[in-house]
Amino acid sequence: MSREDRPVALITGASRGIGRAIALELARGGFDLAANATSWNAAQRESGLAEVEDRVMELGAAFEPVPGDLAELADHDRIVAATLNRFGRIDLLVNNAGIAPQPRVDIMEMPPESYDRVMAVNARGTFFLTQRIVRSMLEAIDRGSAMNPVVIFISSVSAVASSVNRAEYCISKAAISRMAQLFADRLAAHGIRVYEIRPGIIRTEMTAPVRETYDRRIAEGLIPQQRWGEPEDIAKVVAQLAGDSLAYATGIVLEISGGMNIRRL
Ligand code: NAP
Repeated sequence: MSREDRPVALITGASRGIGRAIALELARGGFDLAANATSWNAAQRESGLAEVEDRVMELGAAFEPVPGDLAELADHDRIVAATLNRFGRIDLLVNNAGIAPQPRVDIMEMPPESYDRVMAVNARGTFFLTQRIVRSMLEAIDRGSAMNPVVIFISSVSAVASSVNRAEYCISKAAISRMAQLFADRLAAHGIRVYEIRPGIIRTEMTAPVRETYDRRIAEGLIPQQRWGEPEDIAKVVAQLAGDSLAYATGIVLEISGGMNIRRL
């Protein structure tokens, strides 16, 4: 495959956890990558985007770091411009970046600052970056240079499951779920497919502060498949959706949660 024939993915929040696993899986699958996180430090290669770059390059994919804060709409232009300057188009957008409230606080005490920050990154930032990138996808379709364009939103079981000590996170993920439906509807006739992946409880830095709690709850039967999800469990689904095996489906939700979707008595 020549460089021009390789599809291009932009992944937000690719410096660790689920986003990092998605980057490696897509690189293995033949994608070139633009990888976003809030910071880029070329000298620090043990972690962050530079570590991901080294792994991705070993897999033969091209890599462009596109740092920026999702909450800052001014950063979106730089993220998109850097990607298009390097690769000329974006075929796959994976909206993965997200933050959890720190600390978790009961809904009756949640401060507006926490609500605003979580919504600014998870919901508002994701919405406007998607709007911006979808415009460039539509332009690529008009030029005849688009390759199987797809948008994937990483939401959470929290889009539908209540956790009263992180209401702002649940609200932001419900917004992402709706966003996926709206973009799917708007873009279906243009040939851009849109999916929501709804992860359950995944072993990453985000869940590190509650690891013991979930170890206990999983042992008590919280998850039918009786284990933590791993970032690779989500990454493999992204790679599948990015291919053509679900070509006649858009706007669907894939819950990847070890069976937490099953209502049990
Ligand atoms: P994580 O380990 O905390 O990683 C989050 C990623 O998002 C990092 O790369 C981080 O980059 C980036 N990020 C954070 N704020 C950002 C901002 N303002 N602008 C740009 N990038 C930003 O989290 P994770 O567990 O991999 O979660 C990834 C996604 O899956 C999130 O949307 C999360 O809500 C969702 N999810 C996670 C779980 C779970 O159990 N872990 C379950 C359901 C859904 P830097 O901090 O390096 O900038």
